Amino acid sequence: MTPFKFELLHTSTQSRARVGRIHTPHGVIDTPNFVAVGTNGTLKALDNAMVSNIGLQLMFCNTYHLLLQPGPEVIEKAGGIHRFINRNLPIITDSGGFQVFSLAYGSVADELKSKGTKKHGGSVMKITDEGVLFRSYRDGRSILLTPESSIATQKSFGADIIIPFDELPPYHIDPQALQLSLDRTHRWEKRSLEAHLKHPNGQAMYGVIHGGIDDALREKSCAFLSQLPFDGFAIGGSMGKTKGEMVSMLTSLLPKLPPEAPNHLLGIADLTSLAACVPLGIDTFDSSYPTKAARHGTLLTPSGGMKISRGKHRDEFMPIQEACSCFTCQNYSRAYLHHLFKAKELTAMTLASIHNLHFMVDLMASYRQKIFLNLI
Ligand SMILES: [Zn+2]
Repeated sequence: MTPFKFELLHTSTQSRARVGRIHTPHGVIDTPNFVAVGTNGTLKALDNAMVSNIGLQLMFCNTYHLLLQPGPEVIEKAGGIHRFINRNLPIITDSGGFQVFSLAYGSVADELKSKGTKKHGGSVMKITDEGVLFRSYRDGRSILLTPESSIATQKSFGADIIIPFDELPPYHIDPQALQLSLDRTHRWEKRSLEAHLKHPNGQAMYGVIHGGIDDALREKSCAFLSQLPFDGFAIGGSMGKTKGEMVSMLTSLLPKLPPEAPNHLLGIADLTSLAACVPLGIDTFDSSYPTKAARHGTLLTPSGGMKISRGKHRDEFMPIQEACSCFTCQNYSRAYLHHLFKAKELTAMTLASIHNLHFMVDLMASYRQKIFLNLI
């Protein structure tokens, strides 16, 4: 079994952008790279053989969802998540914390809309130093998620990269409460790492840097976590309410991360953010944006999003993109895709998702090429 290892191949002379290779027991991930989100062990509208053919090297699955359905016992009995979902390539799972706390506080977007006044509560019953007690939205049973139980669950799945349990504070939080939340997150992450190191099983664990958009807290988080033997670092928590806030926070944070470890930006991979963050030295990015856009009929092209249901595509008998080698562009026209979306056929979502993910794979390969040539 190949042990986890990060190889730094080149750092641009123009910026902090870098090209590397993450070795995992299930294969290599070239960086910088896009990580597709397959919440329930599948990318929506695609089966995992298609996903492998598209060339997506790392897939993100959500522990919260898989914990509630089908449950860790089933996945363990199947022989682990790779066998259960038929993917013999790298997989990363999160801790479940993000979803549990999103239920408690709502998403940053919801919160900004309600200016922090709306109480969400959701199905979270109690948050203590021990962990979070919440009610399953599926069957109403109460579940205590702790650093130890999150890691035990991620052990039974067996993903190549796992994430420690952390607290996701609400965006509207006063500085003192954010500081307390950060201290708790650090205690939880340390407990998670200790639980992981008892049975590493060839898995790698990324510490999650928190601190919202407060540069001093981000630095503190980075200093605390980089003392611990994590295999890499993810950047989580609030990224601010604008891209400007996020880029400013990351510009200050990235130089403080250990350069020899891979890093991951959690939940952000829209095209504008990629263009802004690749030069900062981010290695991997996950987002459901390309697949969600596909399902809503927005096809990614070098000149921007193409709304395929617009009337002008009705009789365009050319592919979405002439130069695209994806299955969809090789076999179907814009006119046919336009028709499928208009007719609300499920095939439309599959074909659009294939193209958008292929676009991301090509885009990241071109980023790597440009970094090698010091053009970024
Ligand atoms: Zn295509």
